[in-house]
Amino acid sequence: MATFYIIGTPIGNLEDITLRALRVLKEADIILCEDTRVTKRLLSKYNINTPTLSYHAQSKLSKVEKIFTLLEEGKNLALVSDAGTPCISDPGSLLVAQVCEHFKVGPLGSPRSDLGVSIIPIPGPSALVTALSSAGISVAEFTFLGFLPHKKGRETLFEEIAESKRVMVFYESTHRILKALESLEKFCGNTRHIIVAREITKIYEEFVRGTIAEVRAHFTQNPDRMRGEFVVIVGGSKIVNSKIFE
Ligand code: SAM
Repeated sequence: MATFYIIGTPIGNLEDITLRALRVLKEADIILCEDTRVTKRLLSKYNINTPTLSYHAQSKLSKVEKIFTLLEEGKNLALVSDAGTPCISDPGSLLVAQVCEHFKVGPLGSPRSDLGVSIIPIPGPSALVTALSSAGISVAEFTFLGFLPHKKGRETLFEEIAESKRVMVFYESTHRILKALESLEKFCGNTRHIIVAREITKIYEEFVRGTIAEVRAHFTQNPDRMRGEFVVIVGGSKIVNSKIFE
């Protein structure tokens, strides 16, 4: 019997990891890492010496076959990404799908397959949920767009954001945050309340809230704050300030 764990790890502050995640990382036979060097910083903080193996977006079929063999041998594997929850804008979903298919996991809703493999999630942080939790708007319903495409389809997505009554959330990098705010202003005008969550759980964490123009001005006037990692939340209703909860 082998278990394939999907483990959430910190998105910045290395203390943001559950006791269960630490125990499973310690007890697993092998940790599959997006980048072994990044994960080793976390492991060394908690004196975890479990062997690591890389698994990332470019991993070839031979790596997947090696992972199948390890599971067939009864090895317990733990999948982590560089930060946050694997498979959420990170590698892993294809591997989880391949493991489900290869080991016929849970065709009737059971997590354990007839071939003796279970897939068990160990929940942890994700920038998406953490940003939403402190956004200060009603987020009962939202649409997550992950990273927006750089070229083809980008404008269409901004049109969708402008038309949507739902809260829309996307991930953005340092290089594109200003462009994204410019496009938001172009497509949505100034009728939406947005929140940009930057460097969550890290030293320079900030949540910038306001109209698109106000948030854009904050970043253009403080170019040093255009660094780091960003989650952009676009309020769903076409109103601002006190009525944003409607
Ligand atoms: N799997 C991760 C998760 O569960 O949040 C997301 C990984 S994705 C490759 C990286 C993107 O997530 C960044 O470009 C940024 O948009 C967002 N992100 C990750 N950590 C963040 C943080 N500490 N603060 C703000 N955004 C973050």
